[in-house]
Amino acid sequence: MSPFPLPPGSVIGIVGGGQLGRMLALAAARLGFDVAILTPERDSPAARVAAHGIVAAYEDPDALRRLANLAQVITFEFENVPAAALSGLEALGAQVAPSARALAVAQDRLEEKTFLNAAGIATVGFAAIDGEADLRAAFQRLGAPLLIKTRRGGYDGKGQVWAHRADGAAAALASLGHQPAIAESPADFRREVALIAARGRNGEIALYPLTESHHQNGILHRTSAPAKAPPRLLAEAERIAATLLSALGYVGVLGLELFERDDGRLLVNEFAPRVHNTGHWTLDGCEVDQFEQHIRAVAGWPLGPTEAIHRVEMTNLLGEEAADWARLAHQPETRLWLYGKREATPGRKMGHVNRLSPLDRGV
Ligand code: AMP
Repeated sequence: MSPFPLPPGSVIGIVGGGQLGRMLALAAARLGFDVAILTPERDSPAARVAAHGIVAAYEDPDALRRLANLAQVITFEFENVPAAALSGLEALGAQVAPSARALAVAQDRLEEKTFLNAAGIATVGFAAIDGEADLRAAFQRLGAPLLIKTRRGGYDGKGQVWAHRADGAAAALASLGHQPAIAESPADFRREVALIAARGRNGEIALYPLTESHHQNGILHRTSAPAKAPPRLLAEAERIAATLLSALGYVGVLGLELFERDDGRLLVNEFAPRVHNTGHWTLDGCEVDQFEQHIRAVAGWPLGPTEAIHRVEMTNLLGEEAADWARLAHQPETRLWLYGKREATPGRKMGHVNRLSPLDRGV
């Protein structure tokens, strides 16, 4: 018999202990669930607000067994969890959502773009790069410049380098430590937009409004929500998101990052098989936020309404910026979210603020 919908009092396992796990755990607690966090980090932001904490390596078989015994469903908040750890949980008979396969596709930029194109979703042109000869061939086929990215492990703009000429190929690959890579054509985008999408266990889909992303030094700095965009663009973004969710047989919340080009075409940059920084605005801007939505989806509950109820500017607080909390707390239109991290190193995501203003419905 299906255990879904999970009744309140059930335990939801989360692999990963960062801020996304913390906000998921808070949302789960509000719906009456207990949360178990598995993370190698002691004193992690998520474990400090959860009922159960398991401190162990992600692939530790004993820890995975403990988590599988404790939790009625297991999800993850961290994209670099080894997919093998999740398939190990699936092999133990645990309910894992999203699936290990969705994570595996998203973890490898080559597989990800190949999967997207096969599902009829456009991306920039790309080529697999395993050595200098591949890069030279890619310059011939795709032209210059090319953005070289490691296939795995890169995030927030890390593990990427522009190559402008074939004779710089060796240096570009050396700077990435000769890891398996892909070469991408420039996206030539006018702006970057993002969309948070959810799919329930019964195939029901719920999409949040499109948002505009502003990056600094490769890290998301600000999200403006909802994005001002013509209905045709919104419809295309929604078609892409729904196509992807269905193609993956996805359960949970997914973050989709897109490039909008001058000609109005949308290309997918990447997707994250989890709640996402570009969805933090939903905490204060939507009827049901992305964290509750994810918990609803994996627990087999009906999805909640995704409409915006406020316009929101979400700004990340990186490193020492979070030390400004007392001033920010004085601003009545500002909702402050702090992640409880003990140490503020430069660039580290310590919190975010959502600045609310009335929704102008006429756009
Ligand atoms: P990623 O790690 O793939 O999310 O890339 C980080 C950022 O690099 C993106 O948000 C874009 O600003 C930029 N970027 C990534 N891919 C491309 C591309 N093919 N062309 C131009 N800019 C890109």
